Amino acid sequence: MLRVGLTGGIGSGKSTVARLLADRGATIIDADRLAREVLEPGTDGLGEVVAAFGDDVLNADGTLNRAALAAKAFATEEARQTLNGITHPRIGRLTAERMAAAPEDGVVVHDIPLLVERDMAAAYHLVVVVHADAATRLHRLVTSRGMAEADARQRIAAQATDEQRRAVADVWLDNSGEVPDVTALWDRLVGFEKNVRTRTYASGRPVVVPYDERWPAQAKRVARRISLAAGGRHVEHIGSTSVPGLAAKDVLDFQLAVEDMGTADDLREALAQAGFPYVGPYEDTPRGDDGFWDKRLHAGADPGRRVNLHLRVPGAANWQWAVDFRDWLRHDAQAREEYANVKLELSRRFAADGDGFAYGDAKEPFMEAAVERIKAYRGGQAS
Ligand code: ADP
Repeated sequence: MLRVGLTGGIGSGKSTVARLLADRGATIIDADRLAREVLEPGTDGLGEVVAAFGDDVLNADGTLNRAALAAKAFATEEARQTLNGITHPRIGRLTAERMAAAPEDGVVVHDIPLLVERDMAAAYHLVVVVHADAATRLHRLVTSRGMAEADARQRIAAQATDEQRRAVADVWLDNSGEVPDVTALWDRLVGFEKNVRTRTYASGRPVVVPYDERWPAQAKRVARRISLAAGGRHVEHIGSTSVPGLAAKDVLDFQLAVEDMGTADDLREALAQAGFPYVGPYEDTPRGDDGFWDKRLHAGADPGRRVNLHLRVPGAANWQWAVDFRDWLRHDAQAREEYANVKLELSRRFAADGDGFAYGDAKEPFMEAAVERIKAYRGGQAS
């Protein structure tokens, strides 16, 4: 099962996109609807609300008077927390139940307005943000939802900012104009779901592309996901995509800190479920070190975002080499340019004769020289 978080500001068109995905076959879990369900007449949730806020939050027919509750619950921070203390755990349980009930080979879309505010992005395989600028949202809320303008403005102002939403968006759907076509997104979700279920990593032969300014933000999102799946362990963005300005294959590399390989093996299933299936055991022979160092390799299942994940022990030479090589390239513009040229030359050669092994071999002279240059760089750092 694939868990997708769908969010966006009020009036952005989140529910509209959710419906499009439902038409394709997604299971939708609507957070707003669950929030209403837990306070329906006869629920213990509503009973607790009445006990806390008084029975003047009820209509004559016993249903919840939302305006009356809002007036009380949003009057003070304490009151707000009291209400959240009643509703949040119940909504959480109901959400988990609905997820568990969804088909095993399904795509579950959690339509949740407060995904950013609740800091939940890392718990999903993918986060989709629906965007419309504030003026458009205001117009929609007032015209098609009949909301009072002052109310709509206040709601918009109380939510996360566009920048905060952009930071968690693996997919950004602009719904300022025409409703977006979800065909490409749906294909990605279906492919991703199948890969997660079958423990398959996304494959294909990526080519070297110019540095992409979006890589650091993408890496941050993926790293948080990996770390969460691995019990909060430390994750480092390494490899060429971690060096600003450097041309690279569009594959994000990470290393995850593990105490030892037994721990790495224990994390295998959790990482696979989070979208990073196991590839295999490997030995690294880092430059300037004559040892062999174990690692476990995982890779990303998302067909729209290639990832390599190396499980290594911090302090071991293979972990340290990845960090030093990255830091040296970040620091040394000359080295960066040389390395970019080596890689571009290689990818030209590769395109010409298609020999995959030539790629690694032809890097040799540069890598050999790098050992001494990195030593010099580290010496300079230490003094
Ligand atoms: P949300 O769930 O994000 O609050 P909705 O999907 O309910 O937003 O959309 C808010 C309103 O705007 C609805 O009345 C919807 O029909 C309308 N709407 C959504 N997308 C568009 C669009 N691209 N163009 C015009 N109106 C839209």
